[in-house]
Amino acid sequence: QHYLQQIANAKPLNAILHVFEQEAMAQAAELDAAVAAGKPLLPLHGVVVTIKDVLNYEGQPVTAGSHMLEGYKAVYSATAVKRLLDAGAIIIGSTNCDEFAMGSTNENCAHGVVRNAADPNRVPGGSSGGAAVAVQAGLCMIAIGSDTGGSVRQPADYCGVVGLKPSYGRISRYGLIAYASSFDCVGVLGQSVADVAAVYDVLAGPDGLDSTAMQDQPTPAVTALGTAQKPLRFAWLQPTLGETSPDAEIQSAIRNTFAQLEAAGHTVTAVPFDLMEYIVPTYYVLTTAEASSNLGRFDGIRYGHAAKGNADDLTAFYKQNRSEGFGTEVKRRIMLGTFVLSAGYFDAYFTKAQQVRAKIVAETSLIFSAFDAILMPVSPTIAPLLGELNQDPVSMYLADIYTVFANLAGIPGLALPLYKHSNGMPFGLQVLCNRGEEVLLHRIGAYLE
Ligand code: GLN
Repeated sequence: QHYLQQIANAKPLNAILHVFEQEAMAQAAELDAAVAAGKPLLPLHGVVVTIKDVLNYEGQPVTAGSHMLEGYKAVYSATAVKRLLDAGAIIIGSTNCDEFAMGSTNENCAHGVVRNAADPNRVPGGSSGGAAVAVQAGLCMIAIGSDTGGSVRQPADYCGVVGLKPSYGRISRYGLIAYASSFDCVGVLGQSVADVAAVYDVLAGPDGLDSTAMQDQPTPAVTALGTAQKPLRFAWLQPTLGETSPDAEIQSAIRNTFAQLEAAGHTVTAVPFDLMEYIVPTYYVLTTAEASSNLGRFDGIRYGHAAKGNADDLTAFYKQNRSEGFGTEVKRRIMLGTFVLSAGYFDAYFTKAQQVRAKIVAETSLIFSAFDAILMPVSPTIAPLLGELNQDPVSMYLADIYTVFANLAGIPGLALPLYKHSNGMPFGLQVLCNRGEEVLLHRIGAYLE
């Protein structure tokens, strides 16, 4: 009831799309009854959670922030949703996001912009902007988001909360509306590393319903949080605190942390990384290609927006449905994706980008053979003003430089809200570990927090 009240009070932030009041209260009553009957507490007993509007929860509306899915109700639940409920969590509502999770400001959304609770004239980041604000403004304890190219970590950074993107495949994607399938990850936002770790432990692990899920049973992260910290070997990729990072305050805050880590006996080493300039183009070639294919299913017949006009034939009907249902940014990406996959350009763009991705994966694993973690900013700037970044798609894409790296490499990353800008806005540090090393990642996160 406290959280329902919080949600009602925070309407102007526009972070929550649907409140699942009945189901949430029913789950709460069931948990109380279980306690009264002397049953043991579940791992997430009574933890109040929101889910991004891209996760299916049976019987509940899910729209991926798009007119395309207006009025649609999920016919099954995502594995992540099932695991939350089975662990005793209360799913209180769904959160606003950029359409089909494409965006960095939560302004590309059919349901209106979300406002940053630290300064309502600023964006919350995206695409999981509603999720970050839901945690920031105390509308839930934990928000589940998705991270294809930073959509959990970057809004966490802009809103001053913790954001986890696990290794690719660590949490099942079953029931997550696809954007780019070889990049998409379910992620967790919370107030502390311990909170995020506890939820990660419930969500992570193999799933027969997702063939790309990692097969090994993950080691619990939460129990490792307090264990002694041996001297750690940190790397930072050389361009990341130079020409790609325009904000002097972000640079100096992070360099300060480096100095503190060195004073505490850890090493912090600059590593030249000459693939940095290829990261954003590679990401946008591959994700738009995958998106153009994934979004082919929204034809307005099986599901999705069906136009009212009288189309002459099936193709005209598809065209009308998709022209009306999708927003500008989604259309732009479908066009980019079909272009890079088209016969004449496939080798020049798509194949080339796959080769670059393989190089990035190989170089990253080489770095982790010598280092425990990579440290870098989450975003080149603090949260921009509404309308500031979204006017020009290319500059918006370029601002993803620090986050898309982890998705290209398939490695886990944690955004930690460690700093405050002189204008009062929060920003953070990003910690990246090798694929499958979530235990170490959380341990380092808790140490730095
Ligand atoms: N800004 C990135 C993009 O628009 C983030 C997307 C995401 O992680 N869902 O592609």
